[in-house]
Amino acid sequence: MPYFQRLKPLFLAVILLQCTIVKSQDILPPVPEWHGKSEALIAQPDNKWITHTEKSGFVTTPNYAETMAWLKKLTEATPLMSMISIGKSVEGRDIYMVIASTEQVKTPDALKKSGKPALFVEAGIHSGEIDGKDAGMMLLRDIAFGGKKSLLDKINFYFIPILNVDGHERSSPYNRPNQRGPKNMGWRTNAQNLNINRDFAKIDTKEARAVIKVMNEYDPAMFMDIHVTDGADYQYDITFGGYGQDGYSPQISQWLKNTFKVKADEALKGQGHIPGQLMFAFNDKDFSEGNILSLGGARFSDSYGDTRHLASVLVENHSLKPFKQRVLGTYVLLEATMKLLATEGRELVERTKKDRSTFADEVPMEFKVPQLQKTVVFDAEPEAAAMVKGVQAPDSMVHLGVEHITKISEITGKPYLQWTGKPITQTIVNYKATLPSNLIKRPKAYYVPAAWPDVIERLQAHGISVEVLAEAREVEVELDRILSYKLENESKQVRAFEGHMQLNAVTELFTQKKVYAPGSVRIPTDQALGELAMILLEPSSKDSYFSWGFFNEILQRTEYMEAYVIEPMAQKMLAENPALKAEFEQKKAEDPSFAGNAGAILSWFYSKSPYYDDRYLIYPVGREK
Ligand SMILES: [Zn+2]
Repeated sequence: MPYFQRLKPLFLAVILLQCTIVKSQDILPPVPEWHGKSEALIAQPDNKWITHTEKSGFVTTPNYAETMAWLKKLTEATPLMSMISIGKSVEGRDIYMVIASTEQVKTPDALKKSGKPALFVEAGIHSGEIDGKDAGMMLLRDIAFGGKKSLLDKINFYFIPILNVDGHERSSPYNRPNQRGPKNMGWRTNAQNLNINRDFAKIDTKEARAVIKVMNEYDPAMFMDIHVTDGADYQYDITFGGYGQDGYSPQISQWLKNTFKVKADEALKGQGHIPGQLMFAFNDKDFSEGNILSLGGARFSDSYGDTRHLASVLVENHSLKPFKQRVLGTYVLLEATMKLLATEGRELVERTKKDRSTFADEVPMEFKVPQLQKTVVFDAEPEAAAMVKGVQAPDSMVHLGVEHITKISEITGKPYLQWTGKPITQTIVNYKATLPSNLIKRPKAYYVPAAWPDVIERLQAHGISVEVLAEAREVEVELDRILSYKLENESKQVRAFEGHMQLNAVTELFTQKKVYAPGSVRIPTDQALGELAMILLEPSSKDSYFSWGFFNEILQRTEYMEAYVIEPMAQKMLAENPALKAEFEQKKAEDPSFAGNAGAILSWFYSKSPYYDDRYLIYPVGREK
């Protein structure tokens, strides 16, 4: 061991002594003491199957190895459960899923054949927000050995305890400063620093791919993604719902709103919890300017579920409530959902079938808030959204809020907000993104060239049906010519987002006969995942592969013409083509910077010649009308 290494612990000790570490847990806003009937769900100390979290008094949560060892033991001890790996993380950890079913054979085909609606739950996509794992472990224990076997009489249950397995092991008490426990929290992003809950359209991560594989193979009736909030204080301890107001799955949305939400709220209130709808402060600070629900786009798990007509619910437990209260609320919600699917699941399945077989002529690429002019985009810099005059007033809601006061900061000299803990009831504006926008006419099919195998592979991984061309095919297709483009975040210091240089283009449509090489694919849009295909392939869709930068190759011109060749050619072109001459003179007259730029002039003549690259700035995915 080198000398310096031996000294290292000493240095660290000195450094630690010098800094005062302020624990965020000690300075979080005050929280009311809570007791509820659901506390009876906690196992007694002598219960053989008590979970690590229960044993710790909800102070800590088990690490990956402890979690999986406990689940392995549990699932081996009961014929009701099995545990399988549905993929591996980049760091080589298995992503496990527990299958709970009274069916003896627990293969995807056998489970589908059982005809039972299935609930598919994913916990720990942001692994510091781990409540779902601990709640799921308690519930599985009670199904196996706690008298709740009957929950499986009419349904199947698929449970991913930790999706972001690598992030879960980047554990520290300092990972989630705005959250009240557990002591050890995982990290938000995966080992590649990618946010899995921004990856459901582009699917770069093995984790998102594992979830989609389950959706495709097991075809669950309902999907639930469990998180913990950041940000504003309020009285609710658990908030949940589908973002899709009516979204891409109107039949399913109605069921989620009128059946699921009502029953789940009842169950939670009955157990002493305070359920609410999803809460996102319009001004990103407090609720004085209202709440806003916007459909985040297919990159988010729940919006993704909506685009593929799978009933999908986002759960956001309130970060300022204690870990125990949050885990128990999650348990109650999971159990209530299972009971509801047992009685109402068939109705949901029927509605799902309807949404999957309805092919609207026009499909919106996004949904906007009718009263606002600008799209509200998550992860974008806050933009002042201007109100549109003459549009119907937005909904309002009764909000169980918490009082805040404004103080002047001793650090910045500017005002800042402090939550006092005092409960207040307010009526606030509730904006909803219900306005279908950027409507695209549904083509019969798309053609994706063989030259983009990575895009083709991703489309297939989503479960989209494609026809692979065995021979070259000439088709008349509608294409997009890029007139101008800019990189998203161009003005920002960090331009990459989730590992991509995103693109935003203005295009014009034109029709052309184009030959697609063998290995290209034709994608019909009259399939259950037809809308998803459109969202992934339309260049103006914010979650298309074009927008995510998978087609940036077409932005480059790769053949050139020397000036000494263009010059004499241009002279000849002008002499032979009076119309071209007129166009040239007009362009010079209208555009002085063009007239004064020799390079631009020669390039212009090159672009008018047959030598010009006819694929430059052409988005190669064609629409069959
Ligand atoms: Zn989250």
